[in-house]
Amino acid sequence: MRLETDLKLGFKEVMIRPKRSTLKTRAQVALDRTFTFLHSGREWSGVPVIASNMDTVGTFDVADVLARFDMMTAIHKHYGEEDWTRFLAGRGEGIYQRIMVSTGIAEQDLVRLNRILSAHPDLQFICLDVANGYVEVFVDCLRRVRESYPEKTIVAGNVVTGEMVEELLLSGADIVKVGIGSGSVCITRVKAGVGYPQLSAVIECADAAHGLGGRIISDGGCVSAGDVAKAFGGGADFVMLGGMFAGHDESGGELLEREGQHYKLFYGMSSSTAMEMHSGGVADYRASEGKTVEVPYRGPIAETVKDILGGVRSACTYVGASALRELTKRTTFIRVLEQNNPVFA
Ligand code: 5GP
Repeated sequence: MRLETDLKLGFKEVMIRPKRSTLKTRAQVALDRTFTFLHSGREWSGVPVIASNMDTVGTFDVADVLARFDMMTAIHKHYGEEDWTRFLAGRGEGIYQRIMVSTGIAEQDLVRLNRILSAHPDLQFICLDVANGYVEVFVDCLRRVRESYPEKTIVAGNVVTGEMVEELLLSGADIVKVGIGSGSVCITRVKAGVGYPQLSAVIECADAAHGLGGRIISDGGCVSAGDVAKAFGGGADFVMLGGMFAGHDESGGELLEREGQHYKLFYGMSSSTAMEMHSGGVADYRASEGKTVEVPYRGPIAETVKDILGGVRSACTYVGASALRELTKRTTFIRVLEQNNPVFA
């Protein structure tokens, strides 16, 4: 046994310190970024916020709206080949910069991935996603997917430590997805006792990735637009959101009504709800590691998107960053024991 006594931090343990700024208005802040990816060599430009590949969030309807804001959607893995064909027919070239095809590493997942990519060779992004990115079979699978698709941009995860970020980048990932246990409907920390506070994970993993020319996504744990700003401030190249995008018109799940209030169902991809829906139940040897919750209905997702982007612009203005690219360089985090004023909470 070993004990590390360094305190690791989540978003709620810090604030971004304001700095002198010459910016006159937050409208001056450019949120788009341009990256050239390590292995695929492809260039990408856009606003680096991604809707999570959960079946209640990473829907085609969400993708259509987020694309209007130059943002991305990791489309969940439960759409079939015909659904993809229906979605892509009639949409312009631009959509390929705004969507990722998600897949697990089981044989049937990879068969499905190959079918979709053969039918739609213009798709550029593959999101190879497992709950635990530390297992050897995952790295082997990543190597095989890289060999089969040298020109695709591959996202791989999830991990939370620098050495594993390096391993994934050296095994073919362009972008590593970072986050274990931080998600809003995740109970891994409770069920398994495993995890890593999200901000520290981002800071440490960004450092490892950038040293090799790779990129990272901060995945999970954002509760507010301020947290999204903190993730970027910590060095995340992209931020992925699940819970903050749940409960909208375009999110998956049916609209429920109880006592005049409307709700939408939102659940973790390892929850018993998801496992019953997609895998015929929770297998005997495993525990459900996700929650099922009813989210109050929140209307069109575009309003939430504007709110989040407004918050990130505001953060940039407070530290004098005229572009999102500069935010991390201009960020000084201060450790705190308080966040918002709770009088009207
Ligand atoms: P959120 O933005 O809601 O805080 O976090 C979203 C992320 O939570 C997802 O992108 C995914 O990485 C993670 N996640 C989704 N479902 C589950 C689950 O059932 N269990 C766990 N451990 N993590 C989940």
